[in-house]
Parts: sequence; C-alpha cells; structure tokens
Amino acid sequence: MSEVLVVVDHVDGAVRKPTYELLTIAGRLGEPSAVFFGPAEKAGEVAEKVKKYGAQKVYAVDDAQIKGYLVAPKAEALQQLAEKTSPAAILITSSYEGKEIAGRLAIKLESGLITDAVDVEADGDTPVTTQSVFAGNYTVKAKVTKGTPIITVKPNAASPEEADGAGTVEEFAATVSDAAKRAQIVASQPRKASGRPELTEAAIVVSGGRGTGGNFEPVEGLADALGAAVGASRAAVDSGWMPHSFQVGQTGKTVSPQLYVANGISGAIQHRAGMQTSKTIVAVNKDEEAPIFELVDFGVVGDLHKVLPALTEEVTRR
Ligand code: FAD
Repeated sequence: MSEVLVVVDHVDGAVRKPTYELLTIAGRLGEPSAVFFGPAEKAGEVAEKVKKYGAQKVYAVDDAQIKGYLVAPKAEALQQLAEKTSPAAILITSSYEGKEIAGRLAIKLESGLITDAVDVEADGDTPVTTQSVFAGNYTVKAKVTKGTPIITVKPNAASPEEADGAGTVEEFAATVSDAAKRAQIVASQPRKASGRPELTEAAIVVSGGRGTGGNFEPVEGLADALGAAVGASRAAVDSGWMPHSFQVGQTGKTVSPQLYVANGISGAIQHRAGMQTSKTIVAVNKDEEAPIFELVDFGVVGDLHKVLPALTEEVTRR
C-alpha cells in the first residue's frame, strides 16, 4: 500500500483537529504518514496523538532548519521527503500557510495541485476531490494527472475516524537552501483568545446578518451554547456590527462546518459562496420567501430575537 503524507497542523506541538481529518482521508487513499515540522522534543508527543488516527510513521523535520522562517524551508523539506518516499499523495490543511507550502511544493515536484477540497475519495489509489468553484456556482470533481497529487483540504472535510497506526518517529534531516531562508519571521502576535473556535475550523458556525438589527447577543448566545464560532454576513460587517474577520462569503471566509446556522441572512449568492458546502444548513428568517430557504436542511420562519433565545435555552437545558 502506498504511503500518503499528511502535514501536521499544530501550534507549538499541540495537534489541531484538521490533522486528524487529513489522516482519515489519507487512510482512504493508502497508508498515512505524518510530517511534523516542529521542536524535536515534541515529536514523540505528536506521534502518540496521530497514531490513533492511523499514522504509521511520523517524519520529524529538524526544527532548527525551519524555526523562524516562513514557508519556503518547509516546501524544500517536503520536496526532499517526497523524492525519498514517493508518496501516493500529499495532503495539507487549506490554511494560508498550507496553501503557500502546497503551491511551492507543486512547482518543485512538477506536480498537479488541487486546493480547497471539501471532500477526497479514492478511485483506486487516485484521489478524487470535490471543490466548490467560481464563487460557489459550480461543484467540481477533480483529479491530479501529473506527478504526485498535492491536495489542500478544508477543515471539516471529513470526520476524524480512529485507526491503528504505529506512530514510529523517524527523524528527517532536510537540506534547506540559503534562498529559502531569506524570508524570516521578525515578529508574531497571538490572536486575541475569544474562547470560541476559529471560524474556518469550527465544526459549528452560527452567523448573523442584517436581520439582527445590530444585536448579536442572540447569535452569540446560541454559538456559546453549541460551542460554535460566530460568523456574519457582509451587511452586518459593513454596518460595523462585527469585524471583517467574521465575514463569511465571497469576499470573506469560506467555511464548511458540520452545522451552519444562518440567522437574519437572506442568502445572497456572495454569502452562499462562503458557506454552501456546510454539511447541514439551518436558517432562521422571518421572510418565508428568503432565498436562504432554497439551501437549507431545516428552516425556521420566525423572528430570530424570539427563536434564538428559545433554542439556546433548549440546548443549554439538554
Ligand atoms: P439582507 O440581504 O438585507 O437580508 C436580511 C435578512 O434578514 C432578510 O432575509 C430578512 O427577511 C431577515 N430578517 C430581518 N429581520 C429579521 C428578524 N428579526 N428575524 C429573522 N430574520 C430577519 N455578502 C456576504 O455575506 N459575504 C460576502 O463575502 C459578500 N461579498 C460580496 C462581494 C461582492 C462583490 C458583492 C457585490 C456583494 C457581496 N456581499 C457579500 C453582499 C451580498 O450581496 C448581500 O448584500 C449580503 O450578503 C446581505 O446580507 P444579509 O443577508 O445580512 O442582509
């Protein structure tokens, strides 16, 4: 069975959920192996985590070569690892960093690249991806036809499934060129902790639009009861009710959570572009003709200021 490389998405060795999702997808395609860029002393800890999701090997890439630099050294290290292991595919989280690494790696390996997959299936040992393109107007299935398939996958594309892996740590000493070290990280500022999950990674997103009238309390209350992230339509952002970082849509963030709850949002095409690949969609809107209802699995026609507090109470009670 061919090896499938998964780049571990982590913060200081704390493995993030998208890694387990990628390992689950890798298990459909072949034998998953994880690639950990980080402090050597954390590799064992990471291996303990990822082996529970099927990682047979964990390639630990020398932290000193990577630390403090931007993405270029990681792309070089992955190129060398791919040349050594000839994997069936390389899977990376669809984050800004992940996509930049993937793009550079595809050039180096002269391979095809697919970004922002919302699902990956196996056709034999060839990955077949599903993507939403042209502002959500089309859903396409795609395959890489040249070189090693390099695929970036959006968070929540798969539910992590536990699987037995050996988690054998293998140190991989990459040779990083001086050119790759030209761009350095000179300062970094941690995101202000809100206590809520990151919007693009959250399993549940509760969003509010113009229909909130600027009062996001009911939206935030439901989000907190569900352990969800809060999103917003552009109308809500343009009105100054929420920061732009909360905007979902064509000119905001794209999310594909397990559950998306749209409240007081009409369902304009530009908003749909950012959320229509969500697994289950619920809308609360007082207008039964609102276009969002064309898209939903469950719809509630009503005033969000009444429906959401009742829903929050029920969720909290359970
Ligand atoms: P509206 O369309 O005004 O809808 C408000 C809804 O709330 C209505 O359906 C109404 O029935 C309902 N409502 C009112 N009161 C209540 C209540 N008390 N209870 C329940 N329901 C109620 N939009 C985005 O969201 N994201 C983007 O990234 C984005 N990018 C864009 C890019 C371009 C180039 C352009 C031209 C537009 C973009 N837009 C984007 C804007 C988009 O076209 C819509 O204008 C916007 O999504 C509308 O936001 P809304 O649904 O909150 O407001």
